[in-house]
Amino acid sequence: MIFALDLEGCIAPEIWPVLGATYRLPDFALTTRDIGDFDELMQRRVNAARQAGIRLADLQKLAHAVEPYLGAREFIARLRAMGNVVIISDTFHEFSDPLAAKLGGVNLFANRFELDDEGIISGFKLRIRGQKERIVSGFKSAGFKVAAMGDSMNDFSLLRSCDFPVLYRPVDALLREFPSGARADNLDDALAHFEAAKARLDETGELL
Ligand SMILES: [Mg+2]
Repeated sequence: MIFALDLEGCIAPEIWPVLGATYRLPDFALTTRDIGDFDELMQRRVNAARQAGIRLADLQKLAHAVEPYLGAREFIARLRAMGNVVIISDTFHEFSDPLAAKLGGVNLFANRFELDDEGIISGFKLRIRGQKERIVSGFKSAGFKVAAMGDSMNDFSLLRSCDFPVLYRPVDALLREFPSGARADNLDDALAHFEAAKARLDETGELL
């Protein structure tokens, strides 16, 4: 069994609003909860960084200070006792690798930045965009059952393609897509859903 989790908004706070608050750039503070089109969202963030002349290294100082939600490390440890855990996120390795380490060294699949000669972000490689569904399908075709958790529309394909979706404090648009999906308002709720799913799997061979 594999648990495929979104990162920001689920087990750690959103990083860009932290950057937005520090640099007072409204385009930084927007998140996937505000704009469903991730490409548009990233373009706005990159343009804002370029115009302000902010280097990736400056942003990393702030991003690397972000801590997981209280209890998140324990939550992942409990999931690991039941199966494999991967984080599939639209975040960037340059920001979130330390966060993955703080969460107990969990596997992170994320995007990467491109930099110019001065260390300012010039673009991005979206390894994850549109790929969440493929990653889940790959696990499934290898014979794994996949349970997933996400909070925003950028998790739609992840949640649709998995065997057991958990909506974590979902935005309204996501809730409309999965009206009968398991819903969690905190990590205790989420763990209870996953434990029940694992018990069903052990008993019936299916997660639902
Ligand atoms: Mg999220």
